[in-house]
Amino acid sequence: MESTVTDIRDSIGAIRDYPKPGIIFRDITPLLQDPDAFRSAIKLLKQRYSQLGITQIAAIEARGFIFGSALAYAMGCGVTLLRKPGKLPGKVVSQSYQLEYGSDQLEMHENALTMNDRVLIVDDLLATGGTVIAANQLITSLGADVIEAAFVVSLPELGGEDKLQQAGVACYTLCQF
Ligand code: AMP
Repeated sequence: MESTVTDIRDSIGAIRDYPKPGIIFRDITPLLQDPDAFRSAIKLLKQRYSQLGITQIAAIEARGFIFGSALAYAMGCGVTLLRKPGKLPGKVVSQSYQLEYGSDQLEMHENALTMNDRVLIVDDLLATGGTVIAANQLITSLGADVIEAAFVVSLPELGGEDKLQQAGVACYTLCQF
């Protein structure tokens, strides 16, 4: 069965005070466990991106790997991993950034992309936008073009969409909370 965007949104859980007091964690694990919702989320993203000449999906660790890999498989393009520090075996470029709840760092292989790549960034959720700004900096530092950043969920109150707009990164989200 097809799921609508409303079904997809309804399949996302909310865990209060995780990982810190005051945070509502939007949990995509029920969505993943619902075959219709998961397939429909990938299908909706594929419909938007399949005609744009995307060569690589830049998937952000860890939940971005799930949606990014499924979407790349559906679209017939590659997956480039943006990982937490120390996980990639080759020479890396790295970028630190602020999170809604702390700070972190992203790395990618320095030879992962070229100026011929048209890249779609994929993560599960857009909060403050810090993660995706860091991803955009890494990808563009290798000369590749970022076409858009796609998310299953965004939290507009946290200002990520505005921050991405200011940084010149187009973004698209399936649902909002
Ligand atoms: P940000 O850099 O602030 O946009 O944070 C986005 C990243 O942090 C994504 O990889 C999300 O998985 C994770 N994240 C941030 N806030 C939440 C939240 N409230 N619920 C679930 N994941 C979150």
